[in-house]
Amino acid sequence: LFAGEVEFLKGVVAMSGLPPADRAEVCFAGRSNVGKSSLINALTGRKALARASNTPGRTQEINFFTAADSHYVVDLPGYGFANAPVAVVEKWQRLLKQYLSGRPTLRRAFVLIDARHGAKKVDEEIMSLLDRSAVPFQAVMTKIDKVNKTELERSLAVTRETLARHPAAYPELVLTSSEKGDGIETLRAIIAGLS
Ligand code: GDP
Repeated sequence: LFAGEVEFLKGVVAMSGLPPADRAEVCFAGRSNVGKSSLINALTGRKALARASNTPGRTQEINFFTAADSHYVVDLPGYGFANAPVAVVEKWQRLLKQYLSGRPTLRRAFVLIDARHGAKKVDEEIMSLLDRSAVPFQAVMTKIDKVNKTELERSLAVTRETLARHPAAYPELVLTSSEKGDGIETLRAIIAGLS
């Protein structure tokens, strides 16, 4: 699965634009700047495949990638923009809700958590939405190269405590660094194992 076989398929702005639900699908969610684009790029073995669009206006799309013709990898809009207009936030929240509750082939969501901070309130909001949408999700720590062992343990404790409150959460976390490559193979194997 993956390297060299991943292609950007399309950016979707409405449910009518979704590709046919004909294969297993995983999605990636995370607050802006958590390292989502970097992680998807590392996973897919390409540079600058996921578009690093860090302005609110350009994050409305749900971006679909095809992986080895067997899976869709889906990049959800980043959340938690401090200055995004209310109308923009509401629009993507609506699309996000529709997508999460209406996609029968969506096998798992990965919720990205910055290793420096652990799960925050905005992360918990997306977790609650995943609970309500009955989408099983797994937390993925990003940027673990940026923290020492003590800091990582603290973030993990906070995050585990949060996960315990969410019925749709898997208890196991994946620890990653897109910079150093940690956890990337693990994540690929998890995705490849979903059918
Ligand atoms: P996004 O907004 O979630 O797509 O975040 P990006 O992938 O654009 O990353 C945000 C910033 O964090 C960029 O400056 C990246 O270079 C940096 N970054 C992302 N992943 C890592 C990582 O694993 N380690 C380190 N040290 N920096 C990272």
